[in-house]
Amino acid sequence: MSGEPLLRVSGVSKSFRVGRQRLHAVRNVSFVLPAGQTLGLVGESGSGKSTLGRLALALLKSDSGSVEFDGNQLSSLSDRQLRAKRKDMQLIFQNPLGALNERSTVGRNVMDPLTVHGMGDLEEKTKRVHRMLERVGLQRTHADAYPFELSGGQQQRVMIARALILEPKLVVCDEALSALDVSVQAQILDLLLQLQRERHLSYVFIAHNLTAVSYISDWIGVMYLGEIVELAPADELLESPSHPYTKALFDSVLDIPESKEARSELEALPGEIPSPIDLPSGCSFHTRCPLAVEKCRTLRPIDRMVSPSHRVACHFAGEV
Ligand code: SF4
Repeated sequence: MSGEPLLRVSGVSKSFRVGRQRLHAVRNVSFVLPAGQTLGLVGESGSGKSTLGRLALALLKSDSGSVEFDGNQLSSLSDRQLRAKRKDMQLIFQNPLGALNERSTVGRNVMDPLTVHGMGDLEEKTKRVHRMLERVGLQRTHADAYPFELSGGQQQRVMIARALILEPKLVVCDEALSALDVSVQAQILDLLLQLQRERHLSYVFIAHNLTAVSYISDWIGVMYLGEIVELAPADELLESPSHPYTKALFDSVLDIPESKEARSELEALPGEIPSPIDLPSGCSFHTRCPLAVEKCRTLRPIDRMVSPSHRVACHFAGEV
């Protein structure tokens, strides 16, 4: 990826204990995200996107590999240093009502991060909150409302205001648009893009909605069973997907979705995703791949470069 790197994820894996077994959520994932750019992550439910987003923010500790953010190896920071770094790394997720304190006003919710980090007196913090609310398309008077009094789109704007009040460098948006109507999604996407341009923000944008991902992303990573199976500049990936899984995903989205129901089409691939507890041998996708041959069942593919910045984990990438 070109540009000054802000986030460098190298060989990161994460598994969770499930009874006596292990669920392999993220497996040997690497990518670099330049400052001011967006990496979109797509894949079916259970592909590890959300876990990867939390590993990138050091909200989860990886089993192996490393995460370097803004020149710091996050695992080498003390708890105090990591808390200070968190100012620069924020998360926006799907359910604003679950993330906001419903007993506090919108103003208090947006102000909380400033208070936690000891930034400014009450007057100063109030001014910043009002400016931020206006910047995300709300009014100062919304500061006195309670989250449940707002629409879904307004609640998500509050989440964005809360995430950006500390002026972070990186924001992970985890299905941040999924609960919104299509027209509101478009407004929030435009807002995210404007804020990115103004503040040189980097986003990791996790979504099922390929239309939204292609609209906002500079890079797209396709995840399957915890691995990034294809990673490329967004234009190149959309123009010439190479991995059979990416092609199948894209084939499942024929047009710009018009409804919430249509947005779930990324789920609609034939065959079932194998269990991340009992991973297939060889290529993870061989149980669903129309091109699988014997080699695929026994040998795990390594990444192949089909262009200088386009990598694909398939034995036949560039040939199929
Ligand atoms: Fe399909 Fe084989 Fe490529 Fe895996 S390695 S995606 S099974 S062709």
